[in-house]
Amino acid sequence: MRILAEKDGAAAFITGERARLTTTPQACYTLSMEKIYDCIVVGGGIAGYSAALTLKSLKRDALWLGAELYGEKLRAAEYVRNYPALVGGGALFAERLEEQREKEGVLFTQGRADAVYAGDVFTVTAGENAYLGRTVILATGVSQAGAVKGEENFLGRGVSYCAVCDGALYRGKVVAAVVASEKYAEEVEYLAGFASCVHAFCLYRDARFHAPNIVLHREVPRAVEGGLRVERLLCKEGALDVAGVFFLRDAAPPSALVGGLETEGAQVITGRDGSTNLAGLFAAGDVTGRPYQYAKAAGEGLVAAYSAHAYLAKERA
Ligand SMILES: Cc1cc2nc3c(=O)[nH]c(=O)nc-3n(C[C@H](O)[C@H](O)[C@H](O)COP(=O)(O)OP(=O)(O)OC[C@H]3O[C@@H](n4cnc5c(N)ncnc54)[C@H](O)[C@@H]3O)c2cc1C
Repeated sequence: MRILAEKDGAAAFITGERARLTTTPQACYTLSMEKIYDCIVVGGGIAGYSAALTLKSLKRDALWLGAELYGEKLRAAEYVRNYPALVGGGALFAERLEEQREKEGVLFTQGRADAVYAGDVFTVTAGENAYLGRTVILATGVSQAGAVKGEENFLGRGVSYCAVCDGALYRGKVVAAVVASEKYAEEVEYLAGFASCVHAFCLYRDARFHAPNIVLHREVPRAVEGGLRVERLLCKEGALDVAGVFFLRDAAPPSALVGGLETEGAQVITGRDGSTNLAGLFAAGDVTGRPYQYAKAAGEGLVAAYSAHAYLAKERA
């Protein structure tokens, strides 16, 4: 058995000839060992698209992985005044991108990355799948919902960003979920299948659940507290005793996604070429900080793709 990668004390192993990757007894991933991509682009927004498009033009074998194609931030814009040659709103923007994507043959793989493990090659896990890449471009955007006090202190110690990955660890326990939008309702119900009770703090209107052990709250909790692990969540009612808190929102803090990545708050620290402190890992778009604008995100996606291309060329020289 060979250890492939480690993060937050959990190790990923290759357990046999036929590739399977396990991080915990509860989680196992299917890994295609035949395939190591030149680059894995994580994030389906404009930064990720620009990176994937550029890698395609550079004839690099890239996987473009995103929770959703183009995403809400692109589609939701009512009218975009500052993107060259675009006269219209987010719907038109997405339409134009789709036309170009199809013409250029840029493939999109739907999936939410749960973790990126740095090693000889990078391993990106997404639900039950794991992908290998020589380089990674992180283009996961920023979450509109701000972090809750204490959230980052308990990463891997009771704070999670993926109910499907970690829900089984909380069998019979009381947990909380901070839920940014309705699209995560299914994940909350999945969690309720393991936990004895889920306190769901919903940040959107008309939240409804079908499981009897989900208690609905309509507020942003104030802080996560505990000792070695999460013990409490502070809210208006006082302190709720919980064993874990799930933050279900579009972008998890990059430090939660990639162990050892240098960040400043929600922002990845990069050089002008998009490089990070981890060799072979680049970042682009809102995830690298302000200004939060399409043109900057698209430009950085292109720069990160060229940097990954140069890194690969040097690695093989
Ligand atoms: C309503 C609104 C209007 C706006 N109008 C304008 C405007 O007119 N002009 C302008 O320049 N800017 C505008 N912006 C800002 C602009 O939307 C952002 O700057 C831009 O979308 C950033 O692109 P990005 O690719 O870096 O991030 P995002 O667009 O946020 O894309 C990141 C994507 O990655 C996905 N993702 C996150 N985590 C993961 C993961 N772990 N695995 C897989 N996928 C993941 C997300 O689902 C998301 O789709 C607007 C923003 C909003 C919200």
